[in-house]
Formats: sequence, structure tokens, C-alpha cells
Amino acid sequence: MTELAEAPQAVKAINHWIGGRRREGGSGRSGHVYDPASGVQTGSVDFASAGDVDLAVRTAKEAFTEWRALSIGRRAELFFNIRELFHTHREDLARLLTAEHGKVLSDALGEVARGLEVIEYCCGLPTLLKGGYNEQASTGIDVYSLRQPLGVVAGITPFNFPAMVPMWMWAPALACGNTFILKPSEKDPSASLLTAELLQQAGVPDGVFNVVQGDKVAVDALLEHPDIAAISFVGSTPIARYVYEHATANGKRCQALGGAKNHMIVLPDADVDMAADAAVSAGYGSAGERCMAVSMVVAVGGVADELVDAIKARIPNVKVAPGLEPGAEMGPLVTREHRDRVASYVERAPGEGATVVVDGRQSVPNADGFFLGPSLIDNVKPGMDCYADEIFGPVLGVMRVDTYEEAIRLVNENPYGNGTAIFTRDGGVARQFEFDVQAGMVGINVPIPVPVAYYSFGGWKASLFGDRHIYGPEGIDFYTRTKVVTSRWPDPATSKVDLGFPQTR
Ligand code: NAD
Repeated sequence: MTELAEAPQAVKAINHWIGGRRREGGSGRSGHVYDPASGVQTGSVDFASAGDVDLAVRTAKEAFTEWRALSIGRRAELFFNIRELFHTHREDLARLLTAEHGKVLSDALGEVARGLEVIEYCCGLPTLLKGGYNEQASTGIDVYSLRQPLGVVAGITPFNFPAMVPMWMWAPALACGNTFILKPSEKDPSASLLTAELLQQAGVPDGVFNVVQGDKVAVDALLEHPDIAAISFVGSTPIARYVYEHATANGKRCQALGGAKNHMIVLPDADVDMAADAAVSAGYGSAGERCMAVSMVVAVGGVADELVDAIKARIPNVKVAPGLEPGAEMGPLVTREHRDRVASYVERAPGEGATVVVDGRQSVPNADGFFLGPSLIDNVKPGMDCYADEIFGPVLGVMRVDTYEEAIRLVNENPYGNGTAIFTRDGGVARQFEFDVQAGMVGINVPIPVPVAYYSFGGWKASLFGDRHIYGPEGIDFYTRTKVVTSRWPDPATSKVDLGFPQTR
């Protein structure tokens, strides 16, 4: 080993952000943050105590009075500043994602771009916050509705989109006039602090956006705090269910998005090259660590052999390498433990009766990071672990069925219902699929149908707890409550002061 390799790496301190500045935690607890491409610890993140969370909530509560009173025009202007700053610093943000999550830089830039769309949507806040009005609901009576913010709201986010998923939450929450507390994933927390700095630079007043780092202790403190009005959560299904149950039991509004097992159905008439390209990019992109990743390809009828061959032929072209390396298409997984867990599904598949067509453990690059190559498992059946569990890694399964009905039954009987897709040339069948399928987001010859920012994102069944999807119009609903005003004014004709009004009613 060279002297350089033996030299201790600088480990940066990753703190909370409360009231417009970084603050060290008072709990004495912390977690390790790694560069997944090298396996080296690069950061130490403070874990908040209930006291740290309480300080953030009090700060956000204090800032709420001024923030909600700010004119809509001024808030919209701030959003244009925010958009410009995040756009200017998109690569800084993306590099932080690659450094701590491991995704390749092009993918990280894509994440920031999709998040920016949500900020851009929020620039239209004057229109989004309009209420309704009925003149003369009854004689001399007008009725109108207002949208008002909830107060202090919090977002708890997963490791896989450390910039974009928080944007799904803080952008609409702030646009609606709420103040916000973010509890990012402890695995890749640095993007939260750059976000805080950019918001401050854009002119957002101190205390409006705060960050508490941490684990379950911080989450529980948020769920229990009486001054938090709403919780948005994105993460795995067991924790989503827990967060939803506890937040609502404590009287809070809650939207909790969970895990997924997304099926891509390929009909015998599909364009096989198009379907194979889609399966490879949607199965292995971001190392499969996407809640909208395709995890199961369902080959209907005679298409299976040709499709499996086409996917297999493309796999050697997926360049697995550190995320900053030019041409890298798939980076490492987020942690060593997660990589080993994902690999264990490939290990167990033959014992369960499935066929390992490509084993990703054999194409790991020569590096110390948490790498695993893309795997392809054929003949997957319900009841196997690799079907029952959300693997959340670069493992694509293939199921073979005889008919469309069997394929749709698989999707509809699956406990998850996040995204799904169908590949066909037949518009009538595609339309029937859209009618039949039980999932929140549907792609027709589109493998990852993440809605654009002016629709809302959310799954069905165990992929979402709550009744509002995230961002878009439903995000505005989630972060506002309506107030209906019924008003009557004395008839001007009865006024003691003669102002010369004609009698109008
Ligand atoms: P996770 O559920 O482990 O963690 C999510 C958040 O919950 C983190 O902030 C974490 O600190 C916190 N948390 C973890 N354990 C907790 C506990 N016991 N009590 C309270 N809080 C706890 O999820 P993850 O591994 O970070 O992210 C991957 C998961 O997120 C996958 O299941 C993926 O499908 C899902 N996801 C879903 C969507 C969606 O839109 N539906 C989007 C992205 C990710």
C-alpha cells in the first residue's frame, strides 16, 4: 500500500440546520456516511435527540407567522430565485448524490432535473392557491373558499433520491405558506444541507426550512410533536405503515409512500428491442434502487425466449463503475449490507426453482466499493423470495405466463401497486390494461411512468398510506386546508349615509 492510501481520510461532520445555520446535535449519537464507490467512510452525521427536534419545531413555528403573511407575489418571486439557484448549482448537488448514494453522475443530474420540475410547478403558486367564489349563493349572500397553510410540516425521506424526494415535499409545502422540517436519510444526508444553504441564498427567511438529521429517535419525535401539523413520508412499506399509523393517531395529516414491486408486461406483439432496452434501463438504472424500477418482466405467450435473449445480450453493455467515471452507467449500491442482501436473492434463486441467466456477482468491477453487476433471473414464480420481497437492487426477474389475464392477475394480486407498464402495439389492449390494472402509475410502452410535475405521484395498496398523492395538484391539497366564508353585507340602500348607490338586489 502507498503512504497516500494509508493516510486517514478526512471525515466531514454533517450537522442539523435550524434557524438558518448549522447546529451540532446534543444527543452525542451519530452515524457513518460512506462513499459507496470506494467503501470509505467520508462523513459522520449527527443523530437528533427529541430536544433537537423540539428546537427545530419551535424555530419553524416562530418563522411561520411571518412566512404565511408574506404576499403571494413575493413568495412567487422567491420561488423564481430558488429555481434559478438550484438550476445553477445542479451539478454541485448531483456530485453530492454520487458521492454518498453512489448513482452515476448522469443519473444524479437526472434526479435534480426531475426535482427542479416540481420547483418550477410551484413557481405558479398564485394560480395554485386560488380558491373558489360563488356570488349570490342566496339573496345577498356570497360564498367563497380560501386555501390556507397548515403550519409546521415535516418530511421524512429515503436514501434513494436524497435531493428529489425532499423537493417533492418542501417545494409545495413552502409554496403553500408552511414552514418545514426535513429528516433526510442518514445514509446520504449532505444534499439536505446544500438545499438549506441554497434556500437561504435565494432569500427564504431563516427558520422556514430546517433539517434534523437522524434515525428512528428523530422520526418518533416528529411523529409525536404536538406542533407538527402534517407528515410526508417516502420509504419502505413497513416504515410507511408505522409512520402513517403513528402520525394519524397523533392527529396529524399524513401521506406515507411505501415500497414497490413493479411489473412490466410484454405482450407477444410488442417491439422486442424496445421492450428489452426498456427492461435494461428500468431494471438496472440507479442500480435498481428506484421505487419505480422494473423488478419483474412478465412475458406473455411466445415472446419469452426472444425477450430473455435480447435482455441478456444487452447486459454486458451496462458499464458498472464508480459514478464519476466517464461512461459509467451503473454505480455501486448504497451500503455493503444492502449489496450483500441483494446478492443473496441471486444466490438463493436456483434453490427455489428459478434460473439464473446472468449472475451479477461475476461482473463486479475491480474496486473496493459496494458493487454488484446486473443479474437476470428467469422462470420466477409467485411464492419465491425473489418475487415476494422488494429486492431494491440490480436484479431483474422474468415470469412466463400464457395469457394477458394471467399477467394482469399477477399485478393485481401483488400487495404493492406503485408503477406498472405494458409493452404492446395494440391500443385497444393497452386501454383495457389501463382500465383493469390496480396500480397508481401506469406506463404504455414507457417503463418508468413517473408523472410530470403537474400531475401527482403515488401508488396504490401497500405502496401508499393516506389519501393524497405527492406533489402536483394533490400536493397542494395536502399542504393546505380550505376555509369557506359565507358573507352578507348590509344593503347599501338601508345605509344612513346616502352614497348614491342604486339598489342592486
Ligand atoms: P427506509 O424505510 O428504511 O427509510 C426511510 C426513512 O425512514 C429514512 O429517513 C429513515 O431514517 C427512516 N426510518 C428507517 N427506519 C425507521 C424506523 N424503524 N422508525 C422510524 N423511521 C425509520 O427506506 P430506505 O431504505 O431509505 O429507502 C428505500 C425504500 O423507499 C424502498 O422500499 C423504496 O421502494 C421506497 N421508496 C418509495 C418511493 C415511493 O414514491 N413510493 C420513492 C422512493 C423510495
